[in-house]
Amino acid sequence: MKNRTIKIGVISALREEQAGLIEQMQDAITVQRGMRDYVSGRLWGIESVCVLSRIGKVAVAATTATLIESFGVTHIIFTGVAGAAATDVRIGDIVVASQLVQHDMDASPLFPRFEVPLTGLSHFFSDKQLSSLMTQAASQFINQDFLETVSEANRQEFLIDRPLVHEGLIASGDQFISTSLELNQINDNLPDVLAVEMEGAAVAQVCFEFGIPFAIVRTISDNANEDSPVDFVQFLEKIAARYAFGIVRQFFSLVQENKVHLS
Ligand code: SAH
Repeated sequence: MKNRTIKIGVISALREEQAGLIEQMQDAITVQRGMRDYVSGRLWGIESVCVLSRIGKVAVAATTATLIESFGVTHIIFTGVAGAAATDVRIGDIVVASQLVQHDMDASPLFPRFEVPLTGLSHFFSDKQLSSLMTQAASQFINQDFLETVSEANRQEFLIDRPLVHEGLIASGDQFISTSLELNQINDNLPDVLAVEMEGAAVAQVCFEFGIPFAIVRTISDNANEDSPVDFVQFLEKIAARYAFGIVRQFFSLVQENKVHLS
């Protein structure tokens, strides 16, 4: 649809993943619904609603449906952190989802493993156009902002040299993956997974059901193994917030350029 007013819902699960965005908003108004604060206003000139979903699939599904039904968003993006699930995906890299799957969905033998009952689907596709803008935004963040945004000390601490941007499958479930055993089980059943987290596939399912285009972007905070709890906490404090803000800023500037062409 050309020239219709767009309103972007920006979801994060954790406070650090939303850092700086609310302060950046113009004419911000906060409304509470279902124990969440929905902050509406303009982000870099574009109508937006920012919200913290909290952690897990149910939390984010309720938040996504409310953004669509009560706040009338036309597009949704989710920014957050995730565990690495492939050998070439490293801490500090960015993964943009092309597809998402719920790794803990299992209604077999009634339905095939991973299939969301009555949808006929196990994998949900993100919106191609929004995701490609998101990949571009992530690359621009790495190329233009990364070195001045993340201090050398922090880069050294997390062994982040030149972060890569990946596009592919993200798996979500109601588990923080913190053992190699758990990660191996996911990899065995879903060999293409690049990253594991706890919300993306739920956003994908709700957006699919409401027909809302969405994109999911994740910065890798840990290796989804025994080191995860330590890496994760450190990373959130020192790095995640800067990535999230930087990527979203680049994304909004690309949306601004492409606004009339967004579907
Ligand atoms: N101790 C944290 C709990 C965060 S849960 C707290 O109290 O705030 C982990 C969050 O980061 C989820 O939102 C999830 O989407 C993402 N995540 C990062 N690494 C993950 C991993 N290894 N497994 C699952 N989710 C992960």
